[in-house]
Amino acid sequence: MKKKKMQLTTKILLGLILGIIVGMLLQGAPEIAQTYIKPFGTLFLNLIKMIIVPLVFSSLVVGAASIGDPKSLGRIGGKTLAYYLVTTAFAVTVGLLLATILQPGAGLSIPVDATAEAAEVPSIITTLLNMVPSNPLKGLVDGNILQVIVFALFLGIGSTALPENVSKPFISFFDSLAEIMYKITAFVMMLAPIGVFALIVPVVSSYGLDVLKPLSMVIFAVYVGCVIHAVLVYSSAVKIFAKMSPIRFFKGIAPAAVTAFSTSSSAGTLPVTIRSSRDNLGVSEKIASFVLPLGATINMDGTALYQGVCALFLAQVYGIDLSIGQMVTIIITATLGSIGTAGVPGAGFIMLTLVLQSVGLPLEGLVLIAGIDRILDMARTSVNVIGDASCAVVVAASENELDIENDTEQVALA
Ligand code: ASP
Repeated sequence: MKKKKMQLTTKILLGLILGIIVGMLLQGAPEIAQTYIKPFGTLFLNLIKMIIVPLVFSSLVVGAASIGDPKSLGRIGGKTLAYYLVTTAFAVTVGLLLATILQPGAGLSIPVDATAEAAEVPSIITTLLNMVPSNPLKGLVDGNILQVIVFALFLGIGSTALPENVSKPFISFFDSLAEIMYKITAFVMMLAPIGVFALIVPVVSSYGLDVLKPLSMVIFAVYVGCVIHAVLVYSSAVKIFAKMSPIRFFKGIAPAAVTAFSTSSSAGTLPVTIRSSRDNLGVSEKIASFVLPLGATINMDGTALYQGVCALFLAQVYGIDLSIGQMVTIIITATLGSIGTAGVPGAGFIMLTLVLQSVGLPLEGLVLIAGIDRILDMARTSVNVIGDASCAVVVAASENELDIENDTEQVALA
């Protein structure tokens, strides 16, 4: 399974490199690239667009139904959810700020297709009001992502208020729809090497190698953002709410962070996260077994930060000025979207389409990110996992379920 994923990543990278070479060869004749190669890229993009609404909708219904489980709700659930949502929203903001300061897209300018440009700029109030669909089916049909998210959350949480024999068939249906959509995503991603090739050739044939420098800036911005977020947010959280020294926290969670970095999967890292939190940080079994699996499913600070950086990068590349209202839309979409993001490699990339779509940024830009996505995935997954553990420490402390002595002893041994 893992081997297959690696191979696909390698193929995507090869598609990118080959596309850059062919693009350079075709620099004198960009119309050939536009006419004969680009349609394959457009086909790939259409396939991705086809997946977005049903995937987000079904996975969020199921995700929300699991959060709303009356057994897991209550005080601990409320605290966990609040911590997850606030830190994720903060992470997107860090991403947006960093991309504003570092301007990774500054050196590259690609005009937008007329089709994508038309999105008008709504105010913050309109954005917030529009999140609640007066006609949910219209929201689904139009692919209005915020409305899709809100309606799915209502359905998922609403279903938990009913006896299981009533809600179960409904949730099972969406569960299998989500599984099917993930399967289709896997099929579509098998075409990614061709898609990436076909999309990058026209870009390089028209703009030359200027595209490469901005991409290294994106990597730099995401990595710096991850470090800033971890140091700023998690250090203060464990220090203020759990009176734990940040150094001790980072030392204790290091095994999970390294595993996440190498696997790019917070779900795959979960056993290590639970072990590190329990044995090294002194989080009780009760809190760890609730907060961490939930976190691996719905809490993605690193992913949200990456989406903030990428969205702004693409806005810069396409010369689109984002209003404050649109930035708020990005924060809301990335934060709520993270609930439906699976903790597996590349899931955040699929969800990036959602964020781009929410503010009318051209999905063609995804091709620029695709080739470097794995490098970004490693950093963001580490932050996702460290964020889950920081929540476990904070919630455990507030519930008197943190064994500080155990913590000291174990780290000294580590
Ligand atoms: N790989 C990430 C995780 O497992 C999700 C993502 O692609 O952003 O946490």
